[in-house]
Amino acid sequence: MPDVYNWQLGRTMAYPYEERHPKWQFAAVFNINRCIACQTCTMACKSTWTFSKGQEYMWWNNVETKPYGGYPQFWDIKILKLLAEEHRLQQVEPPHWNGGEQDERRPYGTYEGMTIFEAAVKHWGPEGPQRVLGYIPADEEWQAPNIYEDTATGSRGEPGKFHQTGEALPNHNTWFFYLQRICNHCTYPACLAACPRKAIYKRPEDGIVRIDQERCRGYKKCVEACPYKKSMFRGTTRVSEKCVACYPRIEGKDPLSDGQPMETRCMTSCVGKIRMQGLVKIAEDGSWIPDRQSPLYYLVKDAQVALPLYPQFGTGPNVYYIPPRWVPRPYLRQMFGPGVDEAIERYTHPSRELLAVLQLFRATQNIIFRYAIQEGPKVFETEVNGKPWAMYDDTEIASGRDGLVSVRTTIREPIHQRPVQHQNSI
Ligand code: SF4
Ligand code: SF4
Ligand code: SF4
Repeated sequence: MPDVYNWQLGRTMAYPYEERHPKWQFAAVFNINRCIACQTCTMACKSTWTFSKGQEYMWWNNVETKPYGGYPQFWDIKILKLLAEEHRLQQVEPPHWNGGEQDERRPYGTYEGMTIFEAAVKHWGPEGPQRVLGYIPADEEWQAPNIYEDTATGSRGEPGKFHQTGEALPNHNTWFFYLQRICNHCTYPACLAACPRKAIYKRPEDGIVRIDQERCRGYKKCVEACPYKKSMFRGTTRVSEKCVACYPRIEGKDPLSDGQPMETRCMTSCVGKIRMQGLVKIAEDGSWIPDRQSPLYYLVKDAQVALPLYPQFGTGPNVYYIPPRWVPRPYLRQMFGPGVDEAIERYTHPSRELLAVLQLFRATQNIIFRYAIQEGPKVFETEVNGKPWAMYDDTEIASGRDGLVSVRTTIREPIHQRPVQHQNSI
């Protein structure tokens, strides 16, 4: 297999195809701390893209309750176990991160372990050698998109048996959180790597990963290979389907968008304002071209407050998460890699710029390409974790691809008073 560079792992890794990258990459940041699991995003996707017979279990967007929930059930535990078992069988040291040298090419240090591509090299499935280590979930594992909804961990690791002591930050003993999941439109997609029909492709203009419905023959290799289980088989048509990243919106073809790239349905409908999606500029070697005034570049690369989901799988997922503050750190480090502690510290004690950028989440439906901040007066000061912290009423100005301002907002929400003659408008 050729070697490709994966900056999330801080090293080269084996991948079935030569390295080639799009000019722009579809990417998003989800702030887990704000999600209320209202499932508006889930229904927005469902009602836009999936309908009629065969789509009953197809939830391209789902929001699941961790640690017990998953769609399909226990998807992450299963792939982590498979990976650990493969390390044991191949007598390789268990997977871990070497936090050593950290720079632009390895912001989280280096992953010392096998990815799902590397572990598959010596792995033989029923049909011979595999391209990607994976599994096909059983039918019943797809039955509920948010099974164990709101089920917290118990005092002895059993659901429903809670600690009696009350909870306080930084760690809650009894905890759960919501994980919002769509296809990651991965830099090195496992679904694409595994497809024997070459029916899956990554678009050069925006990095969106799609399945060609004409070429697909329903072999389910993508369902088996995707570690996030975001490629789904439809029994009625006998081909696979997945999130299409609402591509007409990204292309600016939605009638609402006036020709400008617009965020997807699941993003724009988000009630908790936890989601921001955009396009990041990609260099020929796959690195992110520095673009300091792009909010996604700022959150992922500069502030490093948002982290990839299970980067150790090796697919280079392009949805990034601001980790939940109250959850025990070892669980989060396994899920988001070694940058968790710093990310939570930065989020809990936000810089003036970070607080401003966080206000732009769901401030506009158009994709934000650039933001600017106009400084305002200090309006509040306090201590956070024993350190002084001040809030300024800055104004955030965001513009789209055409350079025109699409939204202007402030840290303090303005109060609009209804004129007295309209006080009762019923
Ligand atoms: S998340 Fe899964 S389905 Fe989506 S691009 Fe990555 S490997 Fe493919
Ligand atoms: S990006 Fe579009 S297609 Fe993908 S999960 Fe969200 S709404 Fe569905
Ligand atoms: S719409 Fe937003 S807040 Fe509601 S479940 Fe989805 S991600 Fe969470």
